[in-house]
Amino acid sequence: MEDAKHFIGGGWAAASGGETIAVIDPSDGETFAQIARGNAADIDSAVAAARAAFEGAWGQSSAAERGRVLYRLSMLVTACHEELAQIEARDTGKPLKQARADAAALARYFEFYAGAADKLHGETLPYQAGYTVLTIREPHGVTGHIVPWNYPMQIFGRSAGAALAAGNACVVKPAEDACLSVLRVAALAAEAGLPPGALNVVTGFGHEAGAALARHPGIDHISFTGSPETGKLVAQMAAENHVPVTLELGGKSPQIVFADADLDAALPTLVSAIVQNAGQTCSAGSRVLIERAAYEPLLERLAARFRELRVGPSRADLDCGPLINAKQQRRVWDFLSDAQHDGIPMAAQGEIAADAPESGFYQAPALLRDVPPGHRLAREEVFGPVLAALPFDDENEAVALANGTPYGLVASIWTRDGARQLRLARRVRSGQVFINNYGAGGGVELPFGGVGHSGHGREKGFEALYGFTVLKTIAIKHG
Ligand code: NAD
Repeated sequence: MEDAKHFIGGGWAAASGGETIAVIDPSDGETFAQIARGNAADIDSAVAAARAAFEGAWGQSSAAERGRVLYRLSMLVTACHEELAQIEARDTGKPLKQARADAAALARYFEFYAGAADKLHGETLPYQAGYTVLTIREPHGVTGHIVPWNYPMQIFGRSAGAALAAGNACVVKPAEDACLSVLRVAALAAEAGLPPGALNVVTGFGHEAGAALARHPGIDHISFTGSPETGKLVAQMAAENHVPVTLELGGKSPQIVFADADLDAALPTLVSAIVQNAGQTCSAGSRVLIERAAYEPLLERLAARFRELRVGPSRADLDCGPLINAKQQRRVWDFLSDAQHDGIPMAAQGEIAADAPESGFYQAPALLRDVPPGHRLAREEVFGPVLAALPFDDENEAVALANGTPYGLVASIWTRDGARQLRLARRVRSGQVFINNYGAGGGVELPFGGVGHSGHGREKGFEALYGFTVLKTIAIKHG
């Protein structure tokens, strides 16, 4: 990987403005590398390279050939598993075990979409006598991918993996806070035989390189993962060119626990759903809604778990690493100080390891109880290791609380009552519902995305492939 360069047209390219951005290790706040500060001219070059690939070798490759390239890429990612995990852990601050899981998931994304590439097909439709009508799924062309800092490898893999499988050429703008793994994987893709220009990565700030990509007239589709505010801006910019967008914007996902649930099974999952990646997960289970009869006993057990949680540098591989940056740390502090000011009881907190550098962006996991449903802690995404507990008295109240935010990304329902499982799964407004589990271990195969302020469109699974294609109808009159 070359310092401070973009990856454009199959090789490293210097930033046209010559400026760089410092890469900071969240574990100690120190600068350890520089990335290129991309601008509109760099985005122009990347879009031109992608267009040439789409109209050239990549656009003309067969679905089976695309699948083979993606499969080789999956193998290369597996071969470089530890290297990628180390890069990701240092860049994002996440514990090494989490970064290793992310590297494995990245390989799996490419493997899944390698296998799916030549199984994407249209239909023949019954129509009037004398006609044959068929549909074909065509790639959009050049797709733009704006990636956040929380899971750079995974989110890049799920988005660009599906787009490439469907035959698009990609321009990726990873987050300024964490993009080193994405640059490394772009180089691996070239090694795997991806033609020059099929995958381009331009680094830089969102308001510069990101905005230039979102409003570029040469882009045919944009997929964005990040905050609702930026998602709205991206959709507005894309609308100037009538470009379709997929938005994945996070959530305030409820974990609903009934008194009849297997609480022993639920407990570790209720905790990991919020502390994974220090709570900086779009699908974090950041609210736990507990039936009144189980409220005190479960809170007691949750509190005991929270007190055991340890936070430290990525290399220490504890329960949580630091937050991504000082801005994110201030955001979490702001939520917690509001909670304290409003008298919301802190049920338990984890601990920051004594040897964690003072200059790192650490936050002890926090469990807050009796959070009023209207409080911002019960309604807004914190994006930190903060769990809000709320009691409920019956199913209707559980549903009202679960649906009581503008979001709808993920929900879990913990109960042994089969009829209730189905009733609630239908009533909860959410893109994914998990019964007696949370997240099904990531599930590359499972379509993922939100409703409401969580966004629209679906990533992952076969569904993502449909999103990266345009359906064309061909009607043939043959008499
Ligand atoms: P963000 O939404 O601003 O950034 C996400 C991506 O969008 C980055 O690549 C960024 O460079 C880019 N971007 C920013 N401004 C842009 C613009 N004007 N045009 C085009 N692209 C732009 O998120 P953030 O500021 O890094 O974090 C703020 C909050 O967003 C977090 O506290 C968290 O609540 C939320 N967030 C959610 C996710 C998620 O996975 N859903 C990921 C990251 C952050």
